[in-house]
Amino acid sequence: MEKGIIFDIKEFTVHDGDGIRTTVFLKGCPLRCLWCHNPEGLRTERQLMITRNGCLSCGKCLLPCSHPECQGLGRCLHACPRGLVKAVGEEVDATELASRLAEQAEFFESGVTVSGGEPTMQPAFLLELLDGLGSVDTAIETCGYTAPDIFRRAAEKVQMLYLDIKHMDSAVHQKLTGVPNEPIQRNLEMLMRGNIPYTVRVPLIPGLNDNAENLSRLAEKLSGSRLPPKVEFLPYNPFTEAKYQMAQMPFSLSHIDGNQYHPVIPEEPYRRYGVCWRIL
Ligand code: SF4
Ligand code: SF4
Repeated sequence: MEKGIIFDIKEFTVHDGDGIRTTVFLKGCPLRCLWCHNPEGLRTERQLMITRNGCLSCGKCLLPCSHPECQGLGRCLHACPRGLVKAVGEEVDATELASRLAEQAEFFESGVTVSGGEPTMQPAFLLELLDGLGSVDTAIETCGYTAPDIFRRAAEKVQMLYLDIKHMDSAVHQKLTGVPNEPIQRNLEMLMRGNIPYTVRVPLIPGLNDNAENLSRLAEKLSGSRLPPKVEFLPYNPFTEAKYQMAQMPFSLSHIDGNQYHPVIPEEPYRRYGVCWRIL
């Protein structure tokens, strides 16, 4: 009966695997990608999200309260007349969550995707959750920055693994995400040697990782894959900043205007190395 902490469950998602799915977001991530569009999923602990728009500056949420669920957050979750103060992060039991999701999946004939944050940050919870989902079609979305044994065990339990590749150059990867890319590349190589269905996902961040050289290096790398390699490119999400304000965290990519972004994929190396790709 493993406990874990999640920050969201989204129903009827269409970009997290085949068909219609329910996506569960686990809290905690070892990376700090500059563009992360789920800042509320980075820390493992429960945290505040405050909507600034519409705030009356009345200060009611700052008054001390005795609600057990508010302690340690620095704000009362129940005092805001506009409902602007929330906490994200809920502790759940893996087996209970799995039965709830499995029942729903059976009813809607849908699948379940486990995302984050980084799902492998809570390995025992993740593995028990996947086991509990039994015959449900499952997928995980991972940054791949995890121990090979955990990565392999999780990969073996799902029908599809989505692996994010942010940059092929480790020094640049370190600057953009806070960690080097070698552990991720090692896990990618494990997938390339095996029979586990996987798809590489690349978030395209204007001027940071969308250059032809980086994207071509990825195509060349994937040419060695045993299963036909697939890449999905995720265009930059221009609506990320508001979430950082809510999470009271700094956002360093304010200068990027994602609304005007039209990514260009270097098609020739993808054709040459037989890598199937699409932009989501
Ligand atoms: S209680 Fe609500 S409206 Fe008042 S200061 Fe807090 S967030 Fe703003
Ligand atoms: S790996 Fe994903 S969840 Fe983690 S910081 Fe990067 S974008 Fe955010």
